[in-house]
Amino acid sequence: MSSAILVVGGGFAGLTAAIEAAELGHDVYIVEKTPFLGGRVAQLNKYFPKLCPPSCGLEIQFQRIRNNPRIKFFTLAEVTALSGTKGKYTARVTLQPRYTAAHAVDLGFFASALEGETSNEFDFGLSTRKALYKSMPFAFPSRYVLDAATLTATDKAKLAGNKFINLSDEPKTIELEVGAIVIATGWKPYDVTNLVNLGAGTVPNCITNMQMERLASPSGPTGGKIVRPTDKVAPKRICFVQCAGSRDQNHLNYCSYICCMASIKQCFYAVESIPDVICDVYYIDLRTPGRYIKTLDKARASGRVNFIKGKVANVERIEGDRCRVQAEDAVRGEKLTVDYDLVVLATGMQPSLSAGCPLPLPLDEDGFVTGGEEEGIFTAGCALMPLDVTRSAQTGTAAALKAVQTVEGR
Ligand code: SF4
Repeated sequence: MSSAILVVGGGFAGLTAAIEAAELGHDVYIVEKTPFLGGRVAQLNKYFPKLCPPSCGLEIQFQRIRNNPRIKFFTLAEVTALSGTKGKYTARVTLQPRYTAAHAVDLGFFASALEGETSNEFDFGLSTRKALYKSMPFAFPSRYVLDAATLTATDKAKLAGNKFINLSDEPKTIELEVGAIVIATGWKPYDVTNLVNLGAGTVPNCITNMQMERLASPSGPTGGKIVRPTDKVAPKRICFVQCAGSRDQNHLNYCSYICCMASIKQCFYAVESIPDVICDVYYIDLRTPGRYIKTLDKARASGRVNFIKGKVANVERIEGDRCRVQAEDAVRGEKLTVDYDLVVLATGMQPSLSAGCPLPLPLDEDGFVTGGEEEGIFTAGCALMPLDVTRSAQTGTAAALKAVQTVEGR
């Protein structure tokens, strides 16, 4: 038996699981495939229930990780093979090179001297970044990463000989002995360019809800100003399209749980920062579970957020880079054609494992994990089902306790 626990995924659920298990006295390894910990929460402007900025909850978790020698984390890392059985697993982990020195040196000076720019995935394409970068001001680890695949020949020459950069860094493979595993691989936004009628990817002022989070974030591409991508002017009329890719047999055949609340939250972002803005939310059903109904009531009472029961059929670009929305008003039985400055698609959550799972885990047809507990493999967060941050953390704690019971032979 090994008493160590492997946590696959360094988002909110995985970090919660890792910290809980380590604080109960177990060695924990976090394996995260991106260069930084924090997952999707790090990309939000604010999150429920208290509408905190991500720095609030994540920095506490990062601090607990820094202060706990039982936790080791590996970024740019993926589990590529698993052997053994419950209580005695060997996980093979492949580590991609970071190319930067292990100690905390601020490489911002060298990064800003580079000329090449590439699309910034952290801002969902709303900005560009250098090949040498950190995802955000409080990125953890606070250590630059070099994206060698996007390094231009000129920039490569500039970095050659830099004692903090190792351009000949190579991938490595390590093996971890663990007794139980927590899967917290999270989610990705559904690719709404599959919904050709809704304008994502073709109508420039039609964005997704995660892009809206980055626009509203102080660390985002506009420093927190909600503006249209085309002319950087604040929109006066915004359309929110609910169920964009969710609850649809041709796309995600389930409710993504969080996107009604996300849109209502984003209406407040707009109302609180743009004088006279009007938001129209087109919905099939509004899902505001539990106490979240109060947030919906507050939006209705603002007088600047309208809720229209009806499905959006089409979004097209018109003169002035405005967006023409065609929808039905299901209550009045009317077809509507309304022009907006900005359209926000409430994109659904798709489990990251829908693209494939390297571990022997049963998945349902959508890619959510449905089992594994008999084998000492426990799932947390949105690998399990669509969840908000609070419930993701709760499932992280639950998975940690089950993993601890497993390695303690209880
Ligand atoms: Fe549609 Fe709302 Fe469910 Fe999201 S949470 S899929 S917008 S009903």
